[in-house]
Amino acid sequence: MSEKQKITVAYGDGIGPEIMQATLDILIAAEAKIETEVIEIGEKVYRKGVSNGISDEAWDSLRRTNVFLKAPITTPQGGGYKSLNVTTRMALGLFANVRPCRSFFPYVPTNHPLTDLVIIRENEEDLYAGIEHQQTNEVIQALKLISKPGSEKIIRYAFEYAKVYGRSKVTCMTKDNIMKQADGIFHKIFNEVAREYPNIESNHMIIDIGSAVIADRPHSLDVVVTQNLYGDIISDIAAQVTGSVGLGGSANIGEEAAMFEAIHGSAPDIAGLDIANPSGLINAAVMMLVHINQPDIAEKIANAWLKTIEDGIHTSDIYNKDSNRKVWTSEFSKEVILRLGQAPRLLRPVSFKPMTDMRKMILSKKVKSTKELKGVDIFLDWEEQERNPKKLGERLNKTGTGKLALKMITNRGVKVYPDGFPGTYCTDHWRCRFVAPDEKDSLNNEDIVELLKAIHSEGFDFIKTEHLYTFDGERGYSLGQGE
Ligand code: NAD
Repeated sequence: MSEKQKITVAYGDGIGPEIMQATLDILIAAEAKIETEVIEIGEKVYRKGVSNGISDEAWDSLRRTNVFLKAPITTPQGGGYKSLNVTTRMALGLFANVRPCRSFFPYVPTNHPLTDLVIIRENEEDLYAGIEHQQTNEVIQALKLISKPGSEKIIRYAFEYAKVYGRSKVTCMTKDNIMKQADGIFHKIFNEVAREYPNIESNHMIIDIGSAVIADRPHSLDVVVTQNLYGDIISDIAAQVTGSVGLGGSANIGEEAAMFEAIHGSAPDIAGLDIANPSGLINAAVMMLVHINQPDIAEKIANAWLKTIEDGIHTSDIYNKDSNRKVWTSEFSKEVILRLGQAPRLLRPVSFKPMTDMRKMILSKKVKSTKELKGVDIFLDWEEQERNPKKLGERLNKTGTGKLALKMITNRGVKVYPDGFPGTYCTDHWRCRFVAPDEKDSLNNEDIVELLKAIHSEGFDFIKTEHLYTFDGERGYSLGQGE
């Protein structure tokens, strides 16, 4: 028998200990090749004064095993506590959040009985970098950061996932009709990676219509890959339409480490009553087994679990008039164990292949492109002269240097100078674009410093600058609306 994989286990709070015990009983009965290291996280640790709910010894175990099976925890009320999930995700570099959303109709009621899709969400970038600034009285900025390697990693992961889990289509969702740069690069990389997987169908949808399709025709989707914020929203829509949020597991995957948990929380209202449904954590454990390359055991447990649901053996949360027997948490796991080796008849059985080792996932070679400075956007806090863009434009026209001249002014992205519409509402936040009078001229940072000095000495309050670059001759910035 091959060596056992060490995994870190946290029993969590509320119903955590009951559902973790039920899950581990099944893993042991199915002869999963694992050895557990138990750590304490959550409420008790928070109360000891550890602000992120996880102790130094627990980190040691996580770094040793790199595999974390986690029961839900109770987040204490009040300020000063950091999210354990965010801390773990950041510290372990868990770049992919994977949430399978499947309907188990007729055993679990839903309007979308054929739903069986997986949302793969980028987990580290986007607006979740949390870089926000108030720049004027009226305008606040949140920075959306998207990287090429970050995008490639999640997109490759989505295609690998499709291969291992026998899925036939990967859909990319972005808003690249509006964010042509940040979302455009995600879409472009998706197209490039898709070409390497000719046996997997691929397509792209704008996120708004994509979300509508998840709500209306979820069965038409298979694997969906998207950026962090969109993924956060659509993974909840997708879980909800299955009607079985309580049964779902999720995985947070990194190149070295991974964390597996149920979607639901610690349900303190039913803690200790032996009535909680352990299915969410069981399904998370199945994902863990595939990840640690024990797909045969994962398959055995997943199919036994489906058979148990199909046989009408239900915990009280999903028990209904068509169920056969209402069981306690501890009984449910025994029923799953009894069915190990069996497959469901009505529900589609699952089959898994070995997962690619993430450490071997090779990203495209970095190609260093030629970066050329073409101009600068200078943002001003300005509310004089009744916020009249024409007056601002005329003053700034006189302020340009020999190297940089005013090209346009926008307010909240809309061009207001030259030739703006008189009706455009203007805030106190102005983006003033300066470029070299001759496109072929080369610029450097000194030219920008000189321009800033000129603007400062004219009494303008500049609050931010963004350089305008081309990369290998391609524009690396968006045009203003109406430019
Ligand atoms: P919850 O998911 O714990 O409970 C919502 C409702 O669903 C409750 O009525 C509960 O009894 C029921 N429920 C949840 N899981 C169930 C299960 N397995 N079987 C049967 N019924 C189940 O959400 P909440 O009440 O908003 O949060 C409770 C605590 O959990 C909070 O402290 C919250 O911060 C925490 N939480 C933790 C995680 C996590 O650790 N990943 C996730 C979400 C919430």
